[in-house]
Amino acid sequence: MAQVDIEELREEMLQCRRCGLCREAVYEDKGFNGICPVWENTSGFETGAMRGKIMVALALLEGRLERTAENAESLYQCTLCGNCAQICPAEFEPNRVIEQMRAVITDIPNEVRDSLADKTLAKDNPYDEPVGKKREWVKELNFSIPITGDTIYFAGCTAALRNPRVARNTARVLHKAGLEFAVMESEPCCGSVMMRTGRMDRAVENAQSVSKQLKEAGVKRVIVSCAGCYKTLKKDYEELGIEMPEIVHIVDLASDLIKQGKLKPQSIGKMTVTYHDPCHLGREMDVYETPREILTAIPDVSLVEMETHHDQAKCCGAGGGLRSYDPELSKKIAASRIEEARVTGADVIATACPFCETNLTAGAEVAGSDLGTLDVVDILVKSLGNDSEK
Ligand code: SF4
Ligand code: SF4
Repeated sequence: MAQVDIEELREEMLQCRRCGLCREAVYEDKGFNGICPVWENTSGFETGAMRGKIMVALALLEGRLERTAENAESLYQCTLCGNCAQICPAEFEPNRVIEQMRAVITDIPNEVRDSLADKTLAKDNPYDEPVGKKREWVKELNFSIPITGDTIYFAGCTAALRNPRVARNTARVLHKAGLEFAVMESEPCCGSVMMRTGRMDRAVENAQSVSKQLKEAGVKRVIVSCAGCYKTLKKDYEELGIEMPEIVHIVDLASDLIKQGKLKPQSIGKMTVTYHDPCHLGREMDVYETPREILTAIPDVSLVEMETHHDQAKCCGAGGGLRSYDPELSKKIAASRIEEARVTGADVIATACPFCETNLTAGAEVAGSDLGTLDVVDILVKSLGNDSEK
């Protein structure tokens, strides 16, 4: 998404038939309802679901609603999870329209959106952590990782700064497979948060800089463990026409390494795992099976599915900037997902995104649940007999 064509955007929004399928009674044939996680976890105002958001967006665009922060608020109360797009019968992608709408209302003040962009551009991360802190996780490994190489592991801001266990366990998996890889001295931010929250202007500037840095460093392949980084670096950058090296998600790579016999998982005892599909990995990038293949390749691990999974999986509540705009709602959504996992009888809910895992862990606290939350690499690394965490 480069420049948004406002007339085209309006035409797309007019495709909404106001049928309300995005709000409730979806997948009735399959026995479950209420697919929008925001609608399910808010107090029932029409703007909680996509139909209401589209009406607000159209009214703002057509000047029928004053362009104030209050009037635009519901457009940010959405994780952009894309679940409504799965059931919407109209000829448009509702979540994409909301993302585009956010990019055309940058004149409407929004403190969260702008401070996230300011921090990201100033410090290469949206968490306001000092520049350079993103490589500190490497220090706790018992092997060294160079700072340059053809292949890099791009941990991403969340794994590097908020969930370093995932970064270290990913590095351990790569090391165990004998793969040569580097971790940049100053890893840039992919800019996902700016794209989702509407600062597309600044995200494009950032993306050009990321591409330049990777090119200058001679990088040919980038391995990621974050679903958001993966979608951004691979799909969004391509749509923007930004040149990038090969981008690979660790679950695709690790699954291949297992098939090639370069990783040989061993039993870690009986464990029942349910897998949470990150929206940006599943619905956006069509990666559903490789994380499940990794889990089922580990002897004595059984996989059970939640009521919603694969392309219908409910969101963890973290995406689309919601974790920053409305942390309480974001955690409440995560708690609902935890409940969905709990009733499967699984010991652990595993995922393939450090951002989802962080929010699911917060959701487990809200729900008062002792269900384990892990990344697929956390379980894999244990089965490889490596030193591991958690
Ligand atoms: S967004 Fe789609 S599903 Fe929702 S009311 Fe409009 S047409 Fe129906
Ligand atoms: S994208 Fe997700 S959170 Fe947003 S309206 Fe659709 S289903 Fe709800």
